[in-house]
Amino acid sequence: MIYLDNSATTRVRPEVLSAMLPYLNDNFGNPSSIHKQGRQAKDAISDARKKVATLLGCLPEEVYFSGCGTISNNTAILGRARFVEANALPRHMITTAIEHPSVTGPARYLESLGWEVTYLPVDAQGFVTTDSVKAALRDSTSIVSVMWANNEIGVVEPIAEIAQLVSDYAATIGREIFMHTDAVQVPGKIAIDLSKLPVSALSISGHKFGAPKGVGVLFLRRLVNIMPIFFGGGQEMGLLPGTEGLPNIVAIGEAARLAHQEQAELAARLTAYQKRLFEILSVCENLKITGPADVAHRLPGHVSVAVAQLEGEAMVLRSDLKGIAVSSGSACHQGIIEPSAVLRALRLPDSLAQGALRISFGRDNSESDVEEAGKSLLEVFRKLQATAVR
Ligand code: PLP
Repeated sequence: MIYLDNSATTRVRPEVLSAMLPYLNDNFGNPSSIHKQGRQAKDAISDARKKVATLLGCLPEEVYFSGCGTISNNTAILGRARFVEANALPRHMITTAIEHPSVTGPARYLESLGWEVTYLPVDAQGFVTTDSVKAALRDSTSIVSVMWANNEIGVVEPIAEIAQLVSDYAATIGREIFMHTDAVQVPGKIAIDLSKLPVSALSISGHKFGAPKGVGVLFLRRLVNIMPIFFGGGQEMGLLPGTEGLPNIVAIGEAARLAHQEQAELAARLTAYQKRLFEILSVCENLKITGPADVAHRLPGHVSVAVAQLEGEAMVLRSDLKGIAVSSGSACHQGIIEPSAVLRALRLPDSLAQGALRISFGRDNSESDVEEAGKSLLEVFRKLQATAVR
């Protein structure tokens, strides 16, 4: 099996597994206990916080451990919304048409509470333009959430420019605008330096870069307020309470250390794979790249295409039979093929959007995987094209 679905999830790295195992075993203490076992657990969490802070280029006290990317996104948006409401600030939010449901969901919920939400459109390649952000900002804007990199079409948004624009606009109205970015697809692929990126909050998730599922991080800049949306025993400064998932926190710390160390080398390798696969697939008739064609503006290792007249799920299942694990952006619900909201936002014709496929390389892949997968995928496309109803 050649696993090419690393944007969905990644294998736990062996170094990460070794680092976390003792915390499932001998070092099982509760970090809130004051005995030796507890103190050891507390130290391990503090160590992991430092490692994540190094990956992000922020202070350790700006790192909050959460249960996953979804929880980080919800906590940032709904937590700030609570603060906005508690302070009777205006209730306008800006987000985009291509966010993950863990951002779109909170945005829709806020609408149901009477907030106004602007969903920024994207251009044909999936870019949010700075002009559209400028046009959407208003005196009443209190929250902006724009993803850094999209999981389905690999587009990397101009997040530094957008964040700067929001920050400059906030200065002109003399009021803080909470700027959040979903960076779940970013660690290990693109360098992150929060000492230079003017965002208030950022979300990441462990299972996308070699830690297990069930642990994430919310970066919240010092002196930026949000209010909790969960209530409990006060852990994570009362923002994300609940007994800490000690082994998972140790794991995300180790994964962050490795991702930081290896980012440049991994990005270069994944970009080479990505270029080569685009080259191999380009000979297929009626195939269109979804997201930017220029890999300089894509997530390293992320390849997404759509083939006219084909069905995404059929492509995934045929590829699976050939030992290639990939994914599609279109799902079949009771016989009707529904392109995802992201593909819809690109305004692709349905005949193309229903044939969407995502191939995402990871650190375990090799050059021979690229060649073998490219050959198999072309065979799958041709076979399905030969039988497609036109
Ligand atoms: N945001 C993006 C861009 C994602 O790709 C994902 C996961 O697919 C999430 C958020 C949610 O992360 P998690 O699976 O950790 O809840």
